[in-house]
Amino acid sequence: MNKEVLNTDILVVGAGIAGISTALEAAETGFNVILIEQSPFIGGRVTQLNQYFPKLCPPSCGLEINIKRLRENPLIKLYTLAEVKDITGQKGDFEVKIAIKPTYIKDNCQNIDEIIEKCPYERKNDFDFGLSNTKVIYKAHNNAYPDKYVLDRSSLTEEQLKFLSEAFPEAIDINQKEREIYVKAGSIIWASGWQPYDAKKLDNLGYGKFPNVLTNMELERLFASNGPYGGQPKFNGFNNGILKSVAFVQCAGSRDENHLEYCSSVCCLASIKQSQYIRQLYQDCEIHIYYIDIRTPGVFEEFYNTYTQDEKIYIHRGKVAKVIGNNNGLIVEAEDTLSGKLVQRAHDLVVLAVGMQPDTQKLKLLMPEVLDKNGFVRTDIDTGIIACGVCTRPKDVASTVQESTGAVMRAIHYIKGGN
Ligand code: SF4
Repeated sequence: MNKEVLNTDILVVGAGIAGISTALEAAETGFNVILIEQSPFIGGRVTQLNQYFPKLCPPSCGLEINIKRLRENPLIKLYTLAEVKDITGQKGDFEVKIAIKPTYIKDNCQNIDEIIEKCPYERKNDFDFGLSNTKVIYKAHNNAYPDKYVLDRSSLTEEQLKFLSEAFPEAIDINQKEREIYVKAGSIIWASGWQPYDAKKLDNLGYGKFPNVLTNMELERLFASNGPYGGQPKFNGFNNGILKSVAFVQCAGSRDENHLEYCSSVCCLASIKQSQYIRQLYQDCEIHIYYIDIRTPGVFEEFYNTYTQDEKIYIHRGKVAKVIGNNNGLIVEAEDTLSGKLVQRAHDLVVLAVGMQPDTQKLKLLMPEVLDKNGFVRTDIDTGIIACGVCTRPKDVASTVQESTGAVMRAIHYIKGGN
């Protein structure tokens, strides 16, 4: 079979806010772009947030306009469910093998919503970090772009798959196959984003043991209007679900040589932001933030000053040693590093401010030399792979967009034969 070869100026890997920004900047300057994304939708982690800095607006306020620009720009070709399999060549002249997974859903199905309603099988919703379920035929979220449905075959037994394909032949095509394309590109911009650090590795903090110990990203989903509770979260257990005291555990896994040795840069801000979500819903709720250092650099100092004026927000300098469960709720034990005393306080909910880990497993396999010891793509030396977004270091959305512009400039430089 002949290879399907596509030529482009720039290949962008990852269609989160970094990848979308680079694709738009490059295409609107007149360069051809192929943008690939491994999930079925674009927008990345930002789409999972309830609100983002500094204006505390929902993800839709920035993404909708960018998606419109992307949709209308003929110089950008988008492939979702697409994963890099191999990279050969060098800057100015790369060839990249890409596998595109099937959706197993027919494009022309007219009654997909009705079929989803009737489908008897469910899966854990990874978009909500498993806090909700979807049917196995699903769209990642209500505003997902492309507006595409996917069958999650991995959640089904062979028998269940056979049942579905026979019950809904107008929707399901289990014979769809993965296809491969080869992209010849002058530059590659890697924008593969990040994963929240796995809180199960923090065994002293009660995650997975107590249902009211959550991560900061799970809290985003609970408060998001397209999350499991439509933005009005319910908490199990204490005070009939009314929160009276919430603890935020800062640096959960970050700045710790046993986990992530670096500062994840945005989790202090995230906890202050999330304090507002809770205070708006539970007017009597106290917030206790346990920190080693509070890091809100540059313009975010004002954000810190504004939102920590609240008399119900208490900020404790102390590293949390452990989270214990008892009949009254959760106990956080921390060493107060100002008084030198070991303190214990009871809380209804504990939020772990887990850090950001670069999502660069694919590069680790294909080009390990471009990564630093923590898995971030190196920007201190010229490796030929240009990168931007959180896969180069932890950062907020505004800094990601700025770095994306720089990445496009470098990509153009390579295309034009520069070193
Ligand atoms: Fe810790 Fe704050 Fe840095 Fe996050 S941003 S790692 S919570 S100091």
